[in-house]
Amino acid sequence: MKRRFHGAVMGMYRDALGEFHSPKHVNQIFCDDDIIYDNSLILPSTMIRLARLSLFCRAIKKQCSVVLDLIRYSPLVEGSWCYALSQDLKWSCMSDKFAPRSELSVSQWIDFIEINPWCNNAIKKHCASPWANVSGHVGKDPKDNAADYAFACTRCPYRCDTQQHMSLHEFKSHGIKDPIRLYVRTNVCPVCLKGFTTRERILEHVRRGRTPCKRQLMIMGPVMSENQADELEQSLRVFYRDLHHKGQRRHRADAPWVYACGPPTPRLAGPVL
Ligand SMILES: [Zn+2]
Ligand SMILES: [Zn+2]
Repeated sequence: MKRRFHGAVMGMYRDALGEFHSPKHVNQIFCDDDIIYDNSLILPSTMIRLARLSLFCRAIKKQCSVVLDLIRYSPLVEGSWCYALSQDLKWSCMSDKFAPRSELSVSQWIDFIEINPWCNNAIKKHCASPWANVSGHVGKDPKDNAADYAFACTRCPYRCDTQQHMSLHEFKSHGIKDPIRLYVRTNVCPVCLKGFTTRERILEHVRRGRTPCKRQLMIMGPVMSENQADELEQSLRVFYRDLHHKGQRRHRADAPWVYACGPPTPRLAGPVL
């Protein structure tokens, strides 16, 4: 997630400065650090740190006891907000003002900032310094922090940024198939009545989740058992194998979707089963 944010902000910086080059690899000649340093900009990850630290200081200033207790007593689980905050506080010890405090716990930081209200300004000043905006400080391995990723595998430490990568990993590493296959039996979407040419196309339509179809199907519940879905997929194997031999992708569309006849299913409200 953090890398996506970094890419989006750097894209805007480059656009504004006329430093966005095509083909893409030309951009590497003018690296992100150079652009940030030469124009006194703020590194995207420092923006996130500053926002988190400012919120922390504000909670202390306003004496939000509920929030402060939550921060004080939350276990530092990797990927949590409190864990990221503890990393930010350690990072801020790069500045001279906080250098002697590098061993403080989050709880001790709360007490320290409470009696030293100048900390808030010192943090802001530090975040604006050139030192705080060099990407080398983000960490040698950007994969260190679980919060950098949008999806985490529940069975192993694998993390990634897209649902597609996660589904692929779950299937390849753990043999888990996307459960959405149990919710669709034919090539016509029962919710919006769009008819597709192949099963792969309709599954893609439902999986993307940009229409209400996925949620509606989840509310309706599965229409097939695992065995039935396996049988259906088995019967399509030859078809997909032939496509593969022709060098065509599984989700290839030979014809556009068409509306099927029939009354649309009334929209349901309620929890997903
Ligand atoms: Zn896994
Ligand atoms: Zn649909």
